[in-house]
Amino acid sequence: MPPPHARGYVPGMIRTLLALLAIFIAQPAFANDQTALDRALDDALATFERALPKLSSEEFGVDVAAYRDALSLQQFRSSYWGGEIGLDIEMREGATGSCRQFAAFVRIPPENGAVKLVLCPQFFSPGADALRELTVLHEMVHVVAGRDECQAMAFAAKVQMAATGAFTPVDAYWKASGCAGSRYTLP
Ligand SMILES: [Zn+2]
Repeated sequence: MPPPHARGYVPGMIRTLLALLAIFIAQPAFANDQTALDRALDDALATFERALPKLSSEEFGVDVAAYRDALSLQQFRSSYWGGEIGLDIEMREGATGSCRQFAAFVRIPPENGAVKLVLCPQFFSPGADALRELTVLHEMVHVVAGRDECQAMAFAAKVQMAATGAFTPVDAYWKASGCAGSRYTLP
Protein backbone atom coordinates (compact mmCIF):
# COMPACT_ATOMS: atom_id res chain seq x y z
CA MET A 1 0.00 0.00 0.00
CA PRO A 2 1.54 3.38 -0.91
CA PRO A 3 1.41 6.08 1.76
CA PRO A 4 -1.47 8.53 1.22
CA HIS A 5 0.83 11.40 0.27
CA ALA A 6 2.04 9.41 -2.71
CA ARG A 7 -1.31 9.86 -4.44
CA GLY A 8 -0.82 12.22 -7.34
CA TYR A 9 2.92 11.65 -7.32
CA VAL A 10 2.89 9.03 -10.09
CA PRO A 11 0.83 11.08 -12.55
CA GLY A 12 3.18 13.99 -11.89
CA MET A 13 6.15 11.82 -12.72
CA ILE A 14 4.48 10.60 -15.91
CA ARG A 15 3.94 14.20 -16.94
CA THR A 16 7.61 14.93 -16.35
CA LEU A 17 8.64 11.88 -18.32
CA LEU A 18 6.38 12.87 -21.21
CA ALA A 19 7.84 16.35 -21.19
CA LEU A 20 11.37 14.95 -21.25
CA LEU A 21 10.40 12.54 -24.00
CA ALA A 22 8.99 15.39 -26.08
CA ILE A 23 12.27 17.25 -25.70
CA PHE A 24 14.27 14.15 -26.71
CA ILE A 25 12.04 13.58 -29.72
CA ALA A 26 12.12 17.22 -30.79
CA GLN A 27 15.85 17.77 -30.30
CA PRO A 28 17.32 15.30 -32.84
CA ALA A 29 14.82 16.36 -35.51
CA PHE A 30 15.91 19.96 -35.13
CA ALA A 31 19.59 18.99 -35.09
CA ASN A 32 19.08 16.92 -38.25
CA ASP A 33 17.34 19.83 -39.97
CA GLN A 34 20.21 22.15 -39.07
CA THR A 35 22.71 19.57 -40.38
CA ALA A 36 20.72 19.14 -43.60
CA LEU A 37 20.58 22.91 -44.06
CA ASP A 38 24.31 23.35 -43.39
CA ARG A 39 25.10 20.62 -45.91
CA ALA A 40 22.78 22.14 -48.52
CA LEU A 41 24.45 25.56 -48.10
CA ASP A 42 27.94 23.99 -48.26
CA ASP A 43 27.07 21.90 -51.33
CA ALA A 44 25.45 24.84 -53.13
CA LEU A 45 28.48 27.03 -52.40
CA ALA A 46 30.92 24.32 -53.57
CA THR A 47 28.99 23.92 -56.84
CA PHE A 48 28.83 27.68 -57.31
CA GLU A 49 32.58 28.10 -56.66
CA ARG A 50 33.34 25.38 -59.25
CA ALA A 51 31.15 27.23 -61.75
CA LEU A 52 32.49 30.69 -60.96
CA PRO A 53 35.49 30.73 -63.38
CA LYS A 54 33.04 30.13 -66.25
CA LEU A 55 30.57 32.84 -65.20
CA SER A 56 30.52 36.49 -66.25
CA SER A 57 30.02 39.24 -63.67
CA GLU A 58 26.35 39.17 -64.62
CA GLU A 59 24.40 36.11 -65.81
CA PHE A 60 20.74 36.32 -66.84
CA GLY A 61 20.58 39.67 -65.07
CA VAL A 62 21.90 38.22 -61.79
CA ASP A 63 24.76 40.11 -60.12
CA VAL A 64 27.18 37.20 -59.63
CA ALA A 65 29.24 38.90 -56.87
CA ALA A 66 26.08 39.68 -54.88
CA TYR A 67 24.90 36.11 -55.37
CA ARG A 68 28.21 34.74 -54.11
CA ASP A 69 28.09 36.95 -51.01
CA ALA A 70 24.48 36.01 -50.31
CA LEU A 71 25.38 32.34 -50.54
CA SER A 72 28.63 32.46 -48.56
CA LEU A 73 28.15 35.36 -46.13
CA GLN A 74 24.36 35.71 -46.03
CA GLN A 75 25.01 39.40 -46.54
CA PHE A 76 25.34 41.23 -49.85
CA ARG A 77 25.47 44.65 -51.42
CA SER A 78 22.61 44.97 -53.85
CA SER A 79 22.13 47.42 -56.67
CA TYR A 80 18.85 45.60 -57.35
CA TRP A 81 17.28 46.24 -53.93
CA GLY A 82 19.61 49.13 -53.03
CA GLY A 83 22.18 49.03 -50.22
CA GLU A 84 23.41 46.35 -47.88
CA ILE A 85 21.01 43.42 -47.50
CA GLY A 86 21.09 40.57 -45.02
CA LEU A 87 19.70 37.09 -45.52
CA ASP A 88 17.58 35.74 -42.69
CA ILE A 89 16.92 31.97 -42.86
CA GLU A 90 13.89 30.58 -41.06
CA MET A 91 13.23 26.85 -40.62
CA ARG A 92 9.47 26.46 -40.33
CA GLU A 93 8.16 23.41 -38.49
CA GLY A 94 4.62 23.33 -39.84
CA ALA A 95 3.36 23.17 -43.45
CA THR A 96 1.37 26.37 -42.99
CA GLY A 97 0.88 29.35 -45.33
CA SER A 98 3.10 29.16 -48.43
CA CYS A 99 4.71 26.01 -46.97
CA ARG A 100 1.54 24.11 -47.99
CA GLN A 101 2.66 24.61 -51.58
CA PHE A 102 6.42 25.07 -51.55
CA ALA A 103 9.58 23.48 -50.12
CA ALA A 104 11.05 26.96 -49.70
CA PHE A 105 10.19 30.56 -50.50
CA VAL A 106 11.56 34.07 -50.00
CA ARG A 107 9.91 37.18 -48.64
CA ILE A 108 10.75 40.00 -51.04
CA PRO A 109 11.26 42.90 -51.29
CA PRO A 110 13.55 43.07 -48.23
CA GLU A 111 12.11 44.37 -44.96
CA ASN A 112 14.35 46.28 -42.55
CA GLY A 113 17.37 45.48 -44.73
CA ALA A 114 16.79 41.73 -44.79
CA VAL A 115 15.33 39.14 -47.13
CA LYS A 116 13.77 36.19 -45.37
CA LEU A 117 14.27 32.72 -46.81
CA VAL A 118 11.72 30.32 -45.32
CA LEU A 119 12.54 26.60 -45.46
CA CYS A 120 9.45 24.39 -45.16
CA PRO A 121 9.08 20.84 -43.81
CA GLN A 122 9.20 19.51 -47.40
CA PHE A 123 12.71 20.98 -47.77
CA PHE A 124 13.89 18.66 -45.00
CA SER A 125 12.51 15.44 -46.56
CA PRO A 126 14.91 12.57 -45.88
CA GLY A 127 17.30 11.75 -48.74
CA ALA A 128 16.65 14.98 -50.62
CA ASP A 129 20.24 16.28 -50.49
CA ALA A 130 20.54 16.99 -54.23
CA LEU A 131 17.14 18.67 -54.29
CA ARG A 132 18.05 20.78 -51.25
CA GLU A 133 21.22 21.98 -52.98
CA LEU A 134 19.27 22.92 -56.13
CA THR A 135 16.62 24.65 -54.02
CA VAL A 136 19.31 26.78 -52.36
CA LEU A 137 20.86 27.66 -55.75
CA HIS A 138 17.38 28.58 -57.05
CA GLU A 139 16.08 30.53 -54.04
CA MET A 140 19.31 32.54 -53.81
CA VAL A 141 18.47 34.00 -57.24
CA HIS A 142 15.19 35.30 -55.79
CA VAL A 143 17.12 36.65 -52.81
CA VAL A 144 19.38 38.83 -54.96
CA ALA A 145 17.36 39.36 -58.16
CA GLY A 146 13.63 39.14 -57.45
CA ARG A 147 10.76 36.83 -58.17
CA ASP A 148 11.19 35.73 -61.82
CA GLU A 149 10.89 31.92 -61.89
CA CYS A 150 12.42 31.56 -65.35
CA GLN A 151 15.45 33.64 -64.32
CA ALA A 152 15.93 31.53 -61.16
CA MET A 153 15.69 28.24 -63.07
CA ALA A 154 17.96 29.43 -65.89
CA PHE A 155 20.64 30.74 -63.51
CA ALA A 156 20.62 27.62 -61.29
CA ALA A 157 20.84 25.35 -64.35
CA LYS A 158 23.72 27.44 -65.76
CA VAL A 159 25.63 27.13 -62.46
CA GLN A 160 25.07 23.36 -62.31
CA MET A 161 26.09 22.97 -65.97
CA ALA A 162 29.24 25.07 -65.57
CA ALA A 163 30.23 23.16 -62.41
CA THR A 164 29.39 19.59 -63.35
CA GLY A 165 28.58 19.41 -67.08
CA ALA A 166 24.95 18.50 -66.33
CA PHE A 167 21.90 20.10 -64.76
CA THR A 168 18.75 18.90 -63.03
CA PRO A 169 15.88 18.67 -65.55
CA VAL A 170 13.17 21.25 -64.78
CA ASP A 171 11.09 20.80 -67.95
CA ALA A 172 7.66 20.57 -66.31
CA TYR A 173 8.16 23.64 -64.12
CA TRP A 174 9.82 25.48 -67.02
CA LYS A 175 6.70 24.90 -69.16
CA ALA A 176 4.25 25.57 -66.33
CA SER A 177 5.96 28.92 -65.68
CA GLY A 178 5.71 29.93 -69.35
CA CYS A 179 9.50 30.17 -69.66
CA ALA A 180 9.64 28.97 -73.27
CA GLY A 181 8.68 32.46 -74.43
CA SER A 182 10.93 34.24 -71.91
CA ARG A 183 14.36 35.79 -72.48
CA TYR A 184 15.89 33.05 -70.33
CA THR A 185 17.21 29.71 -71.58
CA LEU A 186 18.28 26.38 -70.17
CA PRO A 187 21.74 25.04 -71.09
ZN1 LIG B 1 11.42 30.15 -57.57
